[in-house]
Amino acid sequence: MSRATLHNQDEVDRKDVRVGDTVRIRRAGDVIPEVVEVLLDKRPHGAAPFQMPRHCPVCKARVDRVGAYHLCTNGLSCPAQLHAHLAHFAWVMDIVGLGGKTVKQLHRTRAGQRSRRHLPAHAHRSGRARRVR
Ligand SMILES: [Zn+2]
Repeated sequence: MSRATLHNQDEVDRKDVRVGDTVRIRRAGDVIPEVVEVLLDKRPHGAAPFQMPRHCPVCKARVDRVGAYHLCTNGLSCPAQLHAHLAHFAWVMDIVGLGGKTVKQLHRTRAGQRSRRHLPAHAHRSGRARRVR
């Protein structure tokens, strides 16, 4: 198992999950397994509480808290956000075979680099989705 979800910082705090903890997880349907509880008898001595990063681990832009979530402020200029938006678009449009891995591979190719040059200039600068006239 390589991933399990904790949803947000509030959930991390509520379950008191700390760096280095051993946890019990539960799989629910096709979704990413969730952390159910911390096995306190296996907690390393001096384990530090987890805090969300202040800067995006992908693009290094500032991270802001918006409600329960922490969001990178770099919009579509952040490769992680661009990949997620494209994969979501492909899912909504029911484009078979254009999932997250394929989007990342496309982004790395010359074809992907050319397509980014054709994005409206404001999409590069602001990183925010806007209506194109
Ligand atoms: Zn980012």
